[in-house]
Amino acid sequence: MTERRGIGIFGGTFDPIHLGHIHLANSVYQKLNLAAVHFIPAAHPLLRTPPQASEAQRVRMVQLAVATQPFFSVDDREIRRGGNSYMIDTLVDIRAAFPEAPLCLIIGVDQFSKFDQWKGWLDMPSLSHIVVTTRQGFECVLNSQIKDFLFKHKTDKVRDLQQLTCGKIFLLSLDTLPISSTEIRGKIAKGEDVGPYLPKEVGDFITQCGLYK
Ligand code: ATP
Repeated sequence: MTERRGIGIFGGTFDPIHLGHIHLANSVYQKLNLAAVHFIPAAHPLLRTPPQASEAQRVRMVQLAVATQPFFSVDDREIRRGGNSYMIDTLVDIRAAFPEAPLCLIIGVDQFSKFDQWKGWLDMPSLSHIVVTTRQGFECVLNSQIKDFLFKHKTDKVRDLQQLTCGKIFLLSLDTLPISSTEIRGKIAKGEDVGPYLPKEVGDFITQCGLYK
């Protein structure tokens, strides 16, 4: 088996982090034989409504969720940087910190279908690979610009992601869990049980803080 060298970069609002996120990160870690996955909570995510939990609460929930997996970690650089969170700035920083490592930006197909709205999207392959994952309930509908971008960089070889440090787009079909943070927040607001969707420690934290009521 190839040496584990690649680093997964998994950004999100994580309001809250849920088992769908953890399952996704685990699947990508295993299928791409990554060395690590860095979870990166966004400070001010664009293209969506502002988070309900505070930045500190979202970071804490991600810490609680990944604590038992040694190859997962929380990177709070977007929160420390403050202001709008742009993944391109994050990738520039991480590339400087890990000049030799393959980087794999992990995004769901729901995000990839809006990728042309991300600042610096065309430059991202010069910093990282992009791993686009399927998500149950979301179709892969891409406009012509994103399709062109995909075909320019697409690979179906996992070894490209291991041998090159950046530059490729890989579509990864996975069995994902049909869960979203929006649904979880809605259920909590209605007083419904969300235990099955969350790591236990995250559920306990939400209850202690009275979040999403
Ligand atoms: P919200 O419902 O608040 O928009 P979300 O559940 O989509 O939140 P995010 O934090 O916005 O979660 O997602 C971060 C990343 O995780 C995105 O790339 C998204 O596509 C992916 N993702 C979220 N939930 C799942 C899931 N259940 N299965 C696979 N991928 C997921």
